[in-house]
Amino acid sequence: MTGVAKSELIGKGDHAYSVPFYGEKRRVLIDLVFKYSREIESKYDYVKREGKVFYGEVFLPLLNHGKGIFVWSKASPLYDSSGKLTGAIESIRDITEQKLAKENLGKLNEELTKSNRIFKQLALKDSHTGLYNHRYLGEVIEAEFFRAKRYAHPLSAILADIDYFKSINDVYGHQFGDLILKQFARQLKMAVRQYDIVVRTGGEEFVVLSPATNRSDTVALAERILEIISLYDFGDESHKVKLKISIAVASYPEDKIMKGMDLIDMADRILVKVKEFGGNRVYSSADLKSQDKPAEETEKTPDVKLLKKELEKLTRQANQGLIESIFAFAKTIELKDHYTGEHVEKTVHYATEVARELGLPNDEVDKIRKASILHDLGKIGISENILLKKGKLTTEEFDEIKKHPQIAVDILRPIQSLQGVIPMIYYHHERWDGGGYLNGLKGDEIPIGARIIAVSDVYEALTSDRPYRKAFSRDEAINMVKDSSGTQFDPKVVDAFLKVLQQEK
Ligand code: GH3
Ligand code: MG
Ligand code: MG
Repeated sequence: MTGVAKSELIGKGDHAYSVPFYGEKRRVLIDLVFKYSREIESKYDYVKREGKVFYGEVFLPLLNHGKGIFVWSKASPLYDSSGKLTGAIESIRDITEQKLAKENLGKLNEELTKSNRIFKQLALKDSHTGLYNHRYLGEVIEAEFFRAKRYAHPLSAILADIDYFKSINDVYGHQFGDLILKQFARQLKMAVRQYDIVVRTGGEEFVVLSPATNRSDTVALAERILEIISLYDFGDESHKVKLKISIAVASYPEDKIMKGMDLIDMADRILVKVKEFGGNRVYSSADLKSQDKPAEETEKTPDVKLLKKELEKLTRQANQGLIESIFAFAKTIELKDHYTGEHVEKTVHYATEVARELGLPNDEVDKIRKASILHDLGKIGISENILLKKGKLTTEEFDEIKKHPQIAVDILRPIQSLQGVIPMIYYHHERWDGGGYLNGLKGDEIPIGARIIAVSDVYEALTSDRPYRKAFSRDEAINMVKDSSGTQFDPKVVDAFLKVLQQEK
C-alpha cells in the first residue's frame, strides 16, 4: 500500500515508510503511540512512496491523479510483561474509494442544484430567442403591478405582433422564419431600455413590460421600436426581408386595471384595432377613444386628427381599389389561358360551396373565395406559346408552368389584406399523396383552401374545352375526380364536392 519494501523498513526507524509531504516527513500514528503511550485512531491522506513530492493543501486532487491514497489507520501500543511500552503495531486500511464516492456524491449534489437552477430559468425563458416566456410574464407582471400601486408609479406594456409573418414562412420556409424571429428578438432587446422586460409571449408576439413608465413615454418607446424594426434588413445572404409590426400600448393608471394581466388583455384588444387599420403602427387606448368621441380629442389638434383619419380612409379605399383591380385582372388570365365560358366564376362557385359543405367558418370561406378567384394569377408570367400548346409539353415547358403559384405569391405579397389568401394560391397544385408541386406537401400539410381549390379547378378544367382537347362530359369528369380521390385529392374534399354536385342536379 505504501510502495515501500519490507527490506527498506527493518531497522530504519520512525519515518522509514513515510514520504515527504507538505514539505516535511509525514507523521505516522505509530510515532504518536510512543509519544502518548496509548491507542490512536485516525483518517488521513497518505502519499505513496513511488509518488513524486506533492505540494498543496487539498488531498483530493492528488487522489484524482492516482498519486495518493486516503487511509484509515489504527495504532496500538505493545507492552512487555512488566508493563513497559516496547513497541507499537499500526494497521492501515485504504479507504480511498469510499472517500471518493462521498466526495463525488457531494459534487453530484452540487451539479444537480445547479442544473435545477438552469431548468427553472429555462422554464421561464424561451429557448429559441432567449427572451422570457409567457409564464414568466404572468409572474413578473403581477409583482410589478403590486409595486406600481404601492409606490404610485405608472406601469406600461407594449404588445408587438409581426405583420403577415405567416407568409414569410410560406414563401421562404419555416427555418428562415425561425431565423427572422431570432433576429427580431435581438433587435427588440437592443431597442428597449435596460430595465424593460422583454418577453416572447407567442410565436411572433412579443411584450415589453416597462416599469415606472407612463403612457406617453411608452408610446414614444414603441414608436422608436417600430422605426428601428422597419429600418433593419432581416434575413441571410440569400434573402433579405423588411418587417412591419403592429404595436399596442397599455398603461396603468391611464388604463383602469384590476390585476397586472389586465394590462396585456387591454393591449390585446387594442392590437385588434391596429390590425384592422392595416398594421405597421402604434396605438394606445387614447387612439381608440378618439374614434369613439372625436369631439374633445379633435379640439386639440383638429387638422392632424382630421388628416390622419382621412388618410386612413384613403388607404383603406386604395387597398380596396387595388384588390378590385387585381380581381378584375385575374379574369384576363382566363382569356390568356383560353378558357371558353366562365372558368373562374365556376371554380369560385364550386370552391365556396365545398367549403360551406365542409362546415368551414365564414371568414375561411371568404378567403377561399378570394383565393379561387386569384389562383391562376401567376399565369400572367407564363408564355402563351406554352399555355396554348396543343401537343404534349416538354419537361422544360412544364417546369415553366410550375412557376405560376410562385409568381402569384410574388405579385400578391405586398397586399396586406390578402396575406391569409396567399397560401391557398401557393399550394393549389400540391397533391394529397405528396406528388405535387411546388413543395411536395402531403395530406393535412396542404392548407384546406388549397385542397378545395385543387378539386374545383380540375373538375372545372375537365369539363371545359381546352386548346389541346375537347371537354369531358360531366359523368366522365366526375369519374376522373373520384379516381383521384386519396391520390391527387383529399378524399374528404372529394366527398363534399360530390355532394355539392348531387345537390345541384
Ligand atoms: P397578422 O399578425 O398580420 O394578422 O398575420 P400573421 O401571419 O403574423 O398571423 P398570425 O398571428 O395568425 O400567425 C402567426 C404565424 O407565425 C403562424 C406561424 O406560421 C408563424 N410562427 C409562429 N411561431 C413560429 C416559430 O416559432 N417559427 C416560425 N418560423 N414561424 C412561427
Ligand atoms: Mg402576426
Ligand atoms: Mg400573431
